[in-house]
Amino acid sequence: MKPVRTLSGVTTVTVLTKPYPCPAQCIFCPDDARMPKSYLPDEPGAMRAVEHDFDPFDQVYSRLESLEAVGHPTDKVELLILGGTWSAYRRDYQEWFVRRCLDALNGKTAGSLLEAHSLNETAMHRNVGLVIETRPDEITPKEIAWLRQLGVTKLQMGAQSLNDRILALNQRGHTVAETGRAVALLRAAGFKIVLHWMPNLLGATPDSDRMDFKRLWEDLCPDEIKIYPCQLLENAPLYAFWQRGEYQPYSQEQLVSLLADIKPGIPRYCRVNRVIRDIPSTHVVAGNKRTSLRQDAQAEMTRRGSHCECIRCREVRGSSVVNSDLILQDQVYTAGGAEEHFLSFTTPDDKIAGFIRLSLPGKNSPHTGLKDLEAAAIIREVHVYGQSLAVGQDANGAAQHSGLGTRLLEEADAITRKYGFKRLVVISAIGTRRYYLERGFKRGETYLIKILT
Ligand code: SF4
Repeated sequence: MKPVRTLSGVTTVTVLTKPYPCPAQCIFCPDDARMPKSYLPDEPGAMRAVEHDFDPFDQVYSRLESLEAVGHPTDKVELLILGGTWSAYRRDYQEWFVRRCLDALNGKTAGSLLEAHSLNETAMHRNVGLVIETRPDEITPKEIAWLRQLGVTKLQMGAQSLNDRILALNQRGHTVAETGRAVALLRAAGFKIVLHWMPNLLGATPDSDRMDFKRLWEDLCPDEIKIYPCQLLENAPLYAFWQRGEYQPYSQEQLVSLLADIKPGIPRYCRVNRVIRDIPSTHVVAGNKRTSLRQDAQAEMTRRGSHCECIRCREVRGSSVVNSDLILQDQVYTAGGAEEHFLSFTTPDDKIAGFIRLSLPGKNSPHTGLKDLEAAAIIREVHVYGQSLAVGQDANGAAQHSGLGTRLLEEADAITRKYGFKRLVVISAIGTRRYYLERGFKRGETYLIKILT
């Protein structure tokens, strides 16, 4: 049993879509006809998908079974759908895929996606987050409306670089401006935003990467990031560049030094999910093969006397929380035309027990075309840490069950009123709708809405 998997309060179940081409041609991306684009069959998360022939129901069902067999609570499940570019798949496949994932959570086969949603609101395994991965140039108002119909709450998107020359050299097929537009639109629609950023792309140097990383925080300001140092794989076009001597992977020392340089500058509202991709080292042709870069960078920062203040580095994890000791912090920043409030409860030693992301759209926020969001402030995320207790269980001091969510919602409500918004909207996951309905929110088209009187 790996307890860390649920210490953020939620159990993540990863599923892969079927093998399918991606419209893009990124030169670092591996190609394996047996897999969705960019995945290798022996990556840890991918093996179960292969075993179940990419069937969504079987993948979720078997994962729940194995989690339950080792005693993990599975009542709050975040579905993480991986596989190339989600938006490139046909919409009927997307709808079927999500419905079958929910069928596995619901223990019942629904006749439609709407029915599967409705069943999940009271199911034993509630869906508390639905994550897909796509490209910036796929994000349009129409696409976000569709994603909301599916129940998506969080998007992972490859930014990879904030330099158009590097993007072009690596044949990303989109520009920095397109990344900016996509992120602003997702923010205006209340999605949680996870950006992938890749150091060591063709044409980059450690110095240019240090500069590039700083640009992430000028206006994109992702909620979470995955740092994926480019890895040289034999079945990616970049391999030929390396053979011709036109590309050189950084050494392990260079990478650790780069990570130790950039991590202390990461804003407190962001969570660093990964600092390297989980590709088996046998596939890596040259350059760093260690997967423990996070610990290596941590050791280097300790040696230098610096530290990282990202969310992941400050989570309370299993520690108990004394509510009366918690300090409320409101970190305000602007991004994509909105004023963001990252409201968090922290312990006296600066561990984070829970937070809320409140977005106040401004005159420069893009129009989503979504009726629910008209003239509204948006709660993009409510996260309270705990021990992923099953409903009805108790653990003294576990943050998740001590009313922190309600207190954070009250704070968000007060700020929204202070700024003169008449509506507060939340991008609720399917399985958390009841929670908000019990707290004064009403059903909109695809969001939940509270009218502020
Ligand atoms: S967009 Fe993603 S999946 Fe598609 S080629 Fe580029 S890296 Fe690979």
